[in-house]
Amino acid sequence: MCSTLPVCRPGTQSLTRRLYLTAREVHSRSGLILPVLLCFLVLSTRLGIAQSPPLDGKSGRELLLRNFRPVPTLKVPQHLLKQAKFPVVDMHTHFLHRLKHSPDQLDHFVKLMNRHNIAVCVSLDGRLGETFNEHRKYLWTRYRDRFLIFVNVDWIGSGDPGKPASWDCQRPDFARRVAKQLAEAKSQGASGLKLFKKFGLSYRNPDGSLLRIDDRRWDPIWKACGTLGFPIIVHTADPIAFFQPIDASNERWEELSRHPEWSFPADKFPTREQLLTARNRVIARHPKTTFIGAHMANASEDLATVAQWLDKYPNLVVEPASRIGELGRQPYSARKFFLKYADRVVFGTDGPWPEERLTYYWRFLETWDEHFPYSEKPFPPQGLWRIYGLGLPENVLRKIYHENAVRLIPGLKQRLERFSQRNQ
Ligand SMILES: [Zn+2]
Repeated sequence: MCSTLPVCRPGTQSLTRRLYLTAREVHSRSGLILPVLLCFLVLSTRLGIAQSPPLDGKSGRELLLRNFRPVPTLKVPQHLLKQAKFPVVDMHTHFLHRLKHSPDQLDHFVKLMNRHNIAVCVSLDGRLGETFNEHRKYLWTRYRDRFLIFVNVDWIGSGDPGKPASWDCQRPDFARRVAKQLAEAKSQGASGLKLFKKFGLSYRNPDGSLLRIDDRRWDPIWKACGTLGFPIIVHTADPIAFFQPIDASNERWEELSRHPEWSFPADKFPTREQLLTARNRVIARHPKTTFIGAHMANASEDLATVAQWLDKYPNLVVEPASRIGELGRQPYSARKFFLKYADRVVFGTDGPWPEERLTYYWRFLETWDEHFPYSEKPFPPQGLWRIYGLGLPENVLRKIYHENAVRLIPGLKQRLERFSQRNQ
């Protein structure tokens, strides 16, 4: 019977037999055996309810990638740090994006910050205008000392999101108006500007082309940031794998298969190199403005290139948010990099994250631990590997955790001092 059907997997046989027996009983009463049997078999096959055993790798069966959960048998020293060794300034957090202005979650996270020795978090979700006011109220009503806010450029304004010609950024006086808004935001307590990756990968001109990062039209904004003492934390492009085809050779296939919208195929987007080169042109054109390259300037897979950029642009610093997975799989290169450029790295996580995720940042920077996870998720979300600690010396840890950030942001030093006094 099976051989006459288009698909007959091993697990269908017992079902087929059961259906056959059931159908025979029906036939003995009604004579409907063939139509009933065929309907059941065709339907069960078509609907995929063929009752195949799970592809779990047991008893010689195939194993689905998403079922792969290797548990290392390695016996090596483990240091499950519960807090950072020195007070931390987390320069890369998203308190609107992740906590949605929930007061309870904020209280909860501040307690977590206390436990982990995180003195200050920089929220990059300030936007401008009314949302900035709401964000200030949310973070500062109870915790003025514990949060700084970076604002964001509103490229669309009151325009129709589907019609780039109507966007605020297409009006001739846009950059000058933004510069004014930034000055106002500074007077209201903002500390810097964050540029999201949509700038370069999503926002468009009326002719459909993407807004160019190095378009001269935006220069007054970057210049104003230098004048105001606003560092610009810039997220340009993404990991190398996101610009490669999603196929069996892509080392982040599993992640991209869950998030195909994170893929930037060459026929629809500029190349990663074009985007990063455009960003670097802006950094070069504005030496008096400090740029923080988010996510290790988005080249954590290629630290030699990041080193070249740091050598070339004295106004560039980098931060490791959401990149310990990359850095920790190349511990020799990463350690050399962090030692050599200890003055050019600030700390960032991309949180607020669950507590366990934070512990991996401390463990990565502070210990010599080997082969440990970089995420609390049971299946490594950014690549199927584990990471290794850098064992950084105390003077470097202090620089990365807070001293470098203090140099960039006025008022931070006093906040750290108050935090340390409270904790004594
Ligand atoms: Zn982020």
